[in-house]
Amino acid sequence: MSEMHAFDDMDDFLAHAYALESEVAERYGEIADAMEVHNNPEVAALFRELAEQSAKHGREVLEYAHKPLPHVAPWGFRWGGQEAPETPPMAETHYLMTPYHALTMARRAEGQAQDFYARVAKLSDAEAIRDLAKEFAEEESEHVATLDRWLAKYPRPPSDWDFDPDPPSVPA
Ligand code: ZN
Repeated sequence: MSEMHAFDDMDDFLAHAYALESEVAERYGEIADAMEVHNNPEVAALFRELAEQSAKHGREVLEYAHKPLPHVAPWGFRWGGQEAPETPPMAETHYLMTPYHALTMARRAEGQAQDFYARVAKLSDAEAIRDLAKEFAEEESEHVATLDRWLAKYPRPPSDWDFDPDPPSVPA
């Protein structure tokens, strides 16, 4: 996010935070759906919970703003970072396939969110924005830690994982 401005206006910061949290919540919901399709209810449940946390965070941001926020279009806070807003992420077909890929993409997104808030906390001239951004960065670091724990449980699958997306059938 090299083009990031310093966020000296609280509503501007909150509008961006809301856009970020909403987008993440939506993506996590999609991943949860995909994990259900691929028979992984445990990871699906994790993503449902993360989606709910992001949605809740978004609602808190709205409550914190005392008036309607300016609309911020999806702004390039994408999984992997570089794609234009309407372009499906390059790895979409992969990250929807295995827990490892889903968790890796989510870990990257949480790390980006944490960096974003940490940079606002450092760069903003407004103390109230710095304090709030610092709080948000701490929440994101908890999500990063959660995903690191889950990644330890779901290591990278064998290199041929993408040729056999269906779970092997168990002999009767
Ligand atoms: Zn988060």
